[in-house]
Amino acid sequence: MKNDRSMVGAGLASRRMRRQAPKRAPMNRKEAPPIMTESVPPRRSTCERCRRPQSACICHWISPVSSIAEVLILQHPLETSQAKGSARLLHLCLPGCRLAVGEAFEEAELANLLHEPWSREDNDRDSGDMVRHPVLLYPETPGQMAAPDPGANGSEVAAPAGPRQARRLRLVVLDATWRKSRKMLYLNPALQALPRLALQDPPLSRYHVRKAHLPHQLSTFEATCQALIQLEHDAGKYQPLQQAFDGFVSQQLNYRPAS
Ligand SMILES: [Zn+2]
Repeated sequence: MKNDRSMVGAGLASRRMRRQAPKRAPMNRKEAPPIMTESVPPRRSTCERCRRPQSACICHWISPVSSIAEVLILQHPLETSQAKGSARLLHLCLPGCRLAVGEAFEEAELANLLHEPWSREDNDRDSGDMVRHPVLLYPETPGQMAAPDPGANGSEVAAPAGPRQARRLRLVVLDATWRKSRKMLYLNPALQALPRLALQDPPLSRYHVRKAHLPHQLSTFEATCQALIQLEHDAGKYQPLQQAFDGFVSQQLNYRPAS
């Protein structure tokens, strides 16, 4: 009989179902409620803040630090469901930080994200109509990219900046694998045209949870913190974020099956 396997499968399924839903007729009732709910796996409740299952919630690591430079995270769609991704925690730790998901952004939408002023109550008082200049956190990649837009003045942001200059900047961070980030640049000329901020002497990564992660490749979280320290010249201010990140990493490591 060709259907042996599925028959066995069906048999198993019904046995399992029987075990889950014992046939115990409720008293005074002839009809037991339909067992529909029994065949559907229990829904995992999700934390509304970090959007992870409650059992894997990372909200206890959130440690808010207000950056002087604005931070815009452009997240590749493949990263949204990546449990080990660090951008969500980063977003939650930086009040006022914005996160947009996409690969090829609509031109007008991207222009808005990059250039429109964000109303931040805490900043409005002293920033007035101050224009923020977007800078892309990305290394120079000669030969790998199309010729830069001639309208973009130079390629790299002159470091060191300092708090006063940081106040005029919007740091644009791509949350994607290296490969996908190159694709995002390719698909969004406006990103490609941005002046860049490259990290100087980045520390070794403490992000040990993703495969193929080289020691010098920083996670989105680490790279952004490092860039903010570089821009604002204040490592101490970002210490709580480093601690939050270490906690987050240790939590992720606990989920790894023992090898
Ligand atoms: Zn949470």
